[in-house]
Amino acid sequence: MRRRRQRAVTYNRHMPLPPITCSKCGLENPVTVRFCKRCHMPTRYECPSCHHLQAQGGTCEKCATNFTKYAAMLMVQLASTEKQSREASSSRQSLLTQILLLPITGVVWLFKYLMALRNGD
Ligand SMILES: [Zn+2]
Ligand SMILES: [Zn+2]
Repeated sequence: MRRRRQRAVTYNRHMPLPPITCSKCGLENPVTVRFCKRCHMPTRYECPSCHHLQAQGGTCEKCATNFTKYAAMLMVQLASTEKQSREASSSRQSLLTQILLLPITGVVWLFKYLMALRNGD
């Protein structure tokens, strides 16, 4: 009897998927479960970009997205959009302040003008 070859990394999509062996406790879990039934370790990782499910984390086997990099990129994007919205609101605020201060500056200018007229007498 020939020894069975080590499990190939890629599976034929028409073949039934083999059970997923838990990387922590070694329990064979059916492909339908996302977490190990015994120790609750994730049995499959979902690509955040294309939602491809795979047994190993790290890099997506389908679109080659690096999960860690992708997560970091999302964080950066989130931070930049937050910063942009903050900047937009702050510029709006300064414009509003200018509009609100306009009558006051106008009054000050008028007062100075009147004072100048009086001194001119
Ligand atoms: Zn397990
Ligand atoms: Zn992917």
